[in-house]
Amino acid sequence: MDTIGQTSKFHATSASQSSPQLFAEVVFNIPLNKIFHYNIPANLREVLIPGMRVKVPFGNKVVTGFCVGLTDKSSGYKTKDIMGILDVFPLADETMLRITRWLSSYYCCGWGEAIHAVIPPVVRRNPKEKRYIFVKCSDHLSEMEKEAILQAKKNATKQMKTLEFLFTKETNSGISAKDLMKATGCTMSVIRRLEQENLILLEEKSMDALNMPEECNKLRQHLTFTGEQQSAFEIIKQKLAEPVQGVILLHGITGSGKTELYLQTIAKLLEQGRKTIFLVPEISLTSQTIRRIKERFNNVAVLHSHLQGAFHYSQWKDIKEGRVDVVVGARSSIFAPLKDVGLIILDEEHENTYKQENSPRYNARDIAILRAKYENAMVMFGTATPSLESYYEAMKGNYAKIVLSKRIGALQLPRVEIVDMLEEVRKKRGYHIVSQKLEYYMKQVLSRNEQVILFLNRRGFAPYLHCKRCGFVLKCSHCDIPLTFHKKLNITLCHYCHREAIPPESCPDCLTGNINYRGFGTEKIEDEIGKKFSEYKILRMDSDTMRSHGSHEKALKAFEQGEFQILLGTQMIAKGLDFPNVTLVGVISADTMLNLPDFRSGERTFQLISQVAGRTGRGQKGGRVIVQSFNPRHYSITYAAAHDYEGFAKKELEYRKPLNYPPFGKLARIIFRGVSEKNTEEKAVVIGNTLKEIAKESNWQLEILGPSPAPVTRINNQFRWHLLLKAKDHQRIHDALQHVTDMLKPTKGVQSLVDIDPYMML
Ligand code: ADP
Ligand code: ZN
Repeated sequence: MDTIGQTSKFHATSASQSSPQLFAEVVFNIPLNKIFHYNIPANLREVLIPGMRVKVPFGNKVVTGFCVGLTDKSSGYKTKDIMGILDVFPLADETMLRITRWLSSYYCCGWGEAIHAVIPPVVRRNPKEKRYIFVKCSDHLSEMEKEAILQAKKNATKQMKTLEFLFTKETNSGISAKDLMKATGCTMSVIRRLEQENLILLEEKSMDALNMPEECNKLRQHLTFTGEQQSAFEIIKQKLAEPVQGVILLHGITGSGKTELYLQTIAKLLEQGRKTIFLVPEISLTSQTIRRIKERFNNVAVLHSHLQGAFHYSQWKDIKEGRVDVVVGARSSIFAPLKDVGLIILDEEHENTYKQENSPRYNARDIAILRAKYENAMVMFGTATPSLESYYEAMKGNYAKIVLSKRIGALQLPRVEIVDMLEEVRKKRGYHIVSQKLEYYMKQVLSRNEQVILFLNRRGFAPYLHCKRCGFVLKCSHCDIPLTFHKKLNITLCHYCHREAIPPESCPDCLTGNINYRGFGTEKIEDEIGKKFSEYKILRMDSDTMRSHGSHEKALKAFEQGEFQILLGTQMIAKGLDFPNVTLVGVISADTMLNLPDFRSGERTFQLISQVAGRTGRGQKGGRVIVQSFNPRHYSITYAAAHDYEGFAKKELEYRKPLNYPPFGKLARIIFRGVSEKNTEEKAVVIGNTLKEIAKESNWQLEILGPSPAPVTRINNQFRWHLLLKAKDHQRIHDALQHVTDMLKPTKGVQSLVDIDPYMML
């Protein structure tokens, strides 16, 4: 990597041999948990701070590493010199070094890999910053003074107009100079003149108009708490006064006013000069929450994954240098370089998007607790359906629990009715996507000018293509997965490797049979509903229709304004939406999750139905939910229909306890993948046998499940095997993994991926 011009003055020329030895501990972005020692040449000794990147010789190459510490103890080997320093300030501070060190040992990756993963790529590239000038009026001016000033400026029309604009359109965080010039026709020299006269203040910020609250100049006031919220807030304030604050699990049903509690807690901490990291499951799906945060606070940074390079970098620096009070973002924002963190919020803490699915496979929920411990901050987990892990911690008294059991405005939770689809098939002779009941209520609701949300967690038109003659099922040529037919694009698509192909005219196996399209996805529902309800407009939201940036917000706004009567979508529409005019929610199939080979499938089903049901009954008109299922008596579905979280949790914990599944035990999964089926199996079996030996020695305190072919046996031409380690505590798992560290290294083209506390079981 090239050294950046501005830092080249720090380059080593030659190390002076006479001065005392001082060494840097350096780690690299490689899957190896080892620290290397390098000499720090005299001229770099004053400059090098842990957290900076260095250029060093490694073997016969020159590579970039992270300095993680300084020491005067040599490692005993002949150490080489650092050749240069790449940064003018540390990219990772002390807390981040501690966190990444923990990450590497807990999630079994290299320390350097962990640091590499938590620093945004744009920051590693050291781009130029992009800054904007913001204008505010001086706050010491009284109304009378303002009038006098305007009077005095009567002859300087441009200055007067500019001041008049600022005085009347008072904004909290100022207006960008560019917008001001546009609005008043003034120039930069006018603005500079007013600054010299101390009438206005200029500030440089990275936040351009794009990041400002859309329609609001004035900050919105806090709402007056309901009784239930007030009691909750008292507990929060008590916690804040304690020396160690720990975790609060805020278990509040949908629409119970959790967000308002977050906002006022953030404000409370800001009074003490302490800042907040606010994590959401996914930025693009939580625009309503984000809008509310921006309306309430001035210096909010929203970390989108699509932020433009220079802007993203400026924002990162704004956070690092203390110009930001609230950071909002998805899981990786838990690593935001914010200082004085007093509060970390995870909204919808049960969501599995908090788990990263490539190395380091961390869970932001656990990192939040760790970071809060290091920084003496408070953690708030909010949800209507706590993960069983969090629920169990609260049960044991490790988390404080606050329950909000009422909806704001005395609104009732919607009535949920389950439709037995087997019965429906019998009654209607053949399968119909929309049951009679759902159709009946849709007609009613739509004729009253109210809106409907339909939910199906499967995109595309048909999830199976098979031959009518020989029964052959079309699968991806590279994965062991049936292809999905997407009608509008007229393609078959593999939802794992994303390969597309033109649908065959006849069966590729027997060459004569016609192809049958079986099952249904959102695209097919859109077709069907379009025919049945042709006088109404349908908005379909899934990852096929919502590809471009900003399309979510645009679509939801259109729905809110009544341009569409029916909103149809995947889990994209399950969360957070708050539309009082939606009086009916239809769950087209509650079974899509239920049959997955995963011990969490019941929990996921319960969560999804509860979340989707929460999208209705949010206004005075009330709401109703119809859930269609072939397993109408499954406890996940019946408890969700009864809005009975406690009942569900009790049942689910009873099922998991004897099996030692989380939250009672800990899991790790090893996935083996390779192009050769035989080598992949061999490696899985060899490691499996070694682990079983260890398990035996532990008196079966450690359990090994498998190895076996993974449920999806092949992805992208790589065969997949897996095994599970299960134990009472993670230490036993880590000890066992320690024993096989060397065996886990890639051999014969087979990789082994270790996933601690896994969420993906396919
Ligand atoms: P949750 O986050 O628990 O789903 P919200 O915070 O979205 O609930 O609250 C639901 C609705 O009630 C929102 O429209 C919100 O503005 C409103 N709300 C919340 N607290 C109050 C309050 N104390 N007074 C009036 N309205 C409130
Ligand atoms: Zn594929």
